[in-house]
Amino acid sequence: MEQSRTARIGKNEALFREVNESIRNVAPIEDPMFEVLCECGAKSCTEQFEIPITEYESVRSDPALFVLVNGHQAPDVEDVVEDEGVFLVVRKRPGVPEEIARATDPR
Ligand SMILES: [Zn+2]
Repeated sequence: MEQSRTARIGKNEALFREVNESIRNVAPIEDPMFEVLCECGAKSCTEQFEIPITEYESVRSDPALFVLVNGHQAPDVEDVVEDEGVFLVVRKRPGVPEEIARATDPR
């Protein structure tokens, strides 16, 4: 696996995670769903989808987990842990991908 690609994907994903954290912070408390940006790490990706806040919170409780549009996963750096149809929850592989994910965890 090429290290620079792994690092680039990891950094982009971390960036989108931060944006989603900002959105989360301003989302109405009474709303059970909120719209997030795909955290797939592709620079050109601007896709959004709705996720239950409870699910988002459980994903964010683990720094190695990310949410992304179904089909946007990078199988060489992450494993799908939940298939929700429209979106997936993925776990970063141990090693560089996971280290970046932990180092950039905003929580
Ligand atoms: Zn995407």
